[in-house]
Amino acid sequence: MRRLAQFLSVTCCAALGSFLLLAEHPSHAMPTACGTKLVEQTPYLCPTEQVWELRRGRLGLSDSLTCCARAGVCDAPARRDATPSEPIIMRLAVHVMGGSDGTFPAGVDAAAVDAQIETLRHAFAPYAIGFEVTSLRFHADDAFMCLPAYSPFNRLWVRALNAMKLEYADDTESSLNLFVACQELGFAGTILGLATFPWDPEATTPRGGVWINAAFFGDGQLTAVHEIGHALGLWHTHRGVSETSGCDDPCAEGVHPATDRSADTTGDFCKDTPATPVNFRCEAPRGSDCAGVAWGHTDPANYMGYGPDSCLSHFSPEQALRMHCWSRDARAGQLRFLEPRVAAVQQRPASTAPVPPEVRARSRTVAVSAARVADVRRGVVRQGLASEGVVALTVVDAAGRPAAHVTLVAEWSGSTSSTLLAQTGRDGRVQLRSPGSSAPAPRWTLTLKSLLRPDGTRIATRAPLLRVVVEPQH
Ligand SMILES: [Zn+2]
Repeated sequence: MRRLAQFLSVTCCAALGSFLLLAEHPSHAMPTACGTKLVEQTPYLCPTEQVWELRRGRLGLSDSLTCCARAGVCDAPARRDATPSEPIIMRLAVHVMGGSDGTFPAGVDAAAVDAQIETLRHAFAPYAIGFEVTSLRFHADDAFMCLPAYSPFNRLWVRALNAMKLEYADDTESSLNLFVACQELGFAGTILGLATFPWDPEATTPRGGVWINAAFFGDGQLTAVHEIGHALGLWHTHRGVSETSGCDDPCAEGVHPATDRSADTTGDFCKDTPATPVNFRCEAPRGSDCAGVAWGHTDPANYMGYGPDSCLSHFSPEQALRMHCWSRDARAGQLRFLEPRVAAVQQRPASTAPVPPEVRARSRTVAVSAARVADVRRGVVRQGLASEGVVALTVVDAAGRPAAHVTLVAEWSGSTSSTLLAQTGRDGRVQLRSPGSSAPAPRWTLTLKSLLRPDGTRIATRAPLLRVVVEPQH
């Protein structure tokens, strides 16, 4: 039976990927596949990465964000390593979906939620990340108690998941919404959970929450640890091996020492997580990398692998730094800082790495002249101010009203270049942070590439929309 389930999920998952891709691009060629290879022989899936890759194509980022390109400043190893690690508390808005008859799937009740939160706290505490529940709501709604079965032939489960989030998500800018709902059993297996990466423009919108399959939620369950790891910026430890297109993939990762800097820009972007094929067991995997080097012990107990809950026990130090960096960068509104943020920023990082020059460079201030502000047909960038390496913009619509939840796709260029995504808040405001630099006198140019509506469609614009030069003030 187990073998049958595995066979079905292999064939159907691959088909699912193609179907989703085509459904999102009814009139376009398939975008460059990048990391979209679905893990083979997976009876239970965490498709967080695959869903992001498909969405990336929908956002038109397939060309500008090639495989393993940086999705933001925290993908820069120096920036990651310089991140303060003062304790942070992630606020959670928990939603348990139940039926109108008062039943809840898998018996999930308040005690189960408490136990799961305690499990989260226990798992993340060594990394100075805590959790507090800002709201816990039990919803009696037959429409969303159980998501439709995972199927390669339709997108019902995806649509239901998004509809559920849109219906019930609340305070998404100040809390990470965590949904618990079951999923109907189908012939293609089931999904453990799904998260939204912090660099996704929808990360702090109603569609950006985390969903955990109720069957894998509760006391001691680690699916939520894994999914929140994704939500805070972590990839699978097997990304560079089992989620690449092959040995020639620019994201491919082979056996390497923990000091190999190239492993900071391939695979899961953490050189202290050994390269590994997907591994469903606690033991070291068999086989070898593209160069014929045996995998060795690897790290099957890492939360971001596919090992069984019974042996998962830790994140790596660099994974912890990524979570602190990405959560501060993209989910700051959902965090509570135990110490004043200003003090935390000014403190020397806990890491032994020296403070990079960009920290000093970011203290410069530059004003953006009105002459640099460009109109777009259905969106206007009204004002800008660059301060301490942060360009603050307000986006308004043609009537001058703040344009909420508009996604900006921008590129920073200087000694290096990186593409970043940012989304306006309800007041139309957004901040774009400059990347780090090792140059003695950094001079960065920010070019706004495109604007996307909340539904992801592109707003017609003239390119470049806006160019802001950030340079030392004399
Ligand atoms: Zn995952």
